[in-house]
Amino acid sequence: MRSNLVAGNWKMCGDSASIGKLVANLKALLPAEPGVDIAVFPPSVYIVQVVGGLAGSPVGVGAQNVCEQPKDGAFTGEVSAAMLADAGCRYVIVGHSERRAMYEDSSERVAQKASQALVQGLTPIICVGETEAQRDDGSTLQVIAGQLDAVFAVLSAEAMRGIVVAYEPVWAIGTGKTATPSQAQEVHAFIRALFAKKDELLAKGLRILYGGSVKAANAGELFAQADIDGGLVGGASLDAQEFSAICRAA
Ligand code: PEP
Repeated sequence: MRSNLVAGNWKMCGDSASIGKLVANLKALLPAEPGVDIAVFPPSVYIVQVVGGLAGSPVGVGAQNVCEQPKDGAFTGEVSAAMLADAGCRYVIVGHSERRAMYEDSSERVAQKASQALVQGLTPIICVGETEAQRDDGSTLQVIAGQLDAVFAVLSAEAMRGIVVAYEPVWAIGTGKTATPSQAQEVHAFIRALFAKKDELLAKGLRILYGGSVKAANAGELFAQADIDGGLVGGASLDAQEFSAICRAA
């Protein structure tokens, strides 16, 4: 069966001192055997610090982005999947809506990034989600299917066994508006059905996280849905108490 995963996206927040405190607080608050998978995603320059700080704890570390290029080279400002693995990452977020909207990460490039992550043994968390206008005009499921089509075009069914999908409605990210459990469940079930068309077993094992203003107060209800296997948490993951409470809810 699927184990839940709670992932904390720290976005472009913090400095070495505040991140050091957050790590220490997480270590103090999270049990040694939390019963769920937990990972945090610091800004890339702090990855090595966080990997060191969390050594011996059950919390994995990931990056918020990765370059789609397979080899070292003239890609100024980019960080490769091999470098992330070398720095101690186990996961990487690809296709976060902020990157799709602000940094031109197309669905095709997102799929390439996921592919490179897998080659290096990282678990890509592939984010998909609709904008408010798309939800209002009734095209949510079509948008999600289009974003995943690019993944299906690049990754084999075998490779997809190594991925995690995060459904993150854009209108719920950082806004305090959360999808209702039934709105989220509808999309999660749709995503699982799309994967089932490729491979039933793959779909059964696929972890699909919900993201968008998750907090301790709403996590339990969301994570209780049949096709929600944990959360991708932004703002609330910067508060160790709140994040630990969300992990407990999973
Ligand atoms: C996110 O950054 O992926 C996210 C879901 O943010 P928030 O929890 O703050 O809405």
